[in-house]
Amino acid sequence: MQKIFHFDSPPEPYVSDAAVLCCFDERIRLAVNKFLRRQGILRPDMIVVAGGAKTLASPRNDFERNFILEQVRMSMRLNQTARLFLMSHSDCANYGGLEAFGGDRKREAEHHQHELQRGRIGKGKFSITCREVLLCRV
Ligand SMILES: [Zn+2]
Repeated sequence: MQKIFHFDSPPEPYVSDAAVLCCFDERIRLAVNKFLRRQGILRPDMIVVAGGAKTLASPRNDFERNFILEQVRMSMRLNQTARLFLMSHSDCANYGGLEAFGGDRKREAEHHQHELQRGRIGKGKFSITCREVLLCRV
């Protein structure tokens, strides 16, 4: 096998600052990273999937929701994560983009806010209790 890249990652275990569920849309990556750093989240466990918080708020099926919940549980178990960030973003293709809201950013933002509230966990609804669940829209 040809070696094409070498980088030494820190081998020691870590405590994650937060699990972060966000969309894989490349357009938001820089904003998400900057936002997390500004929040002091330097060691996030990133759960990056199409639609981000939609997978908990309006999952396509139980498998999707259960898969995401298991990822959150693993972050909590393996890296002592106590916080969860649920993120959505404007023009998300998994919601049909801005076009699905007639190009109305305010209407889209209201819908996403409602979705983030629906996706919120921590009251035992999905048998996960995080110390803190933060809802974010980028
Ligand atoms: Zn998206």
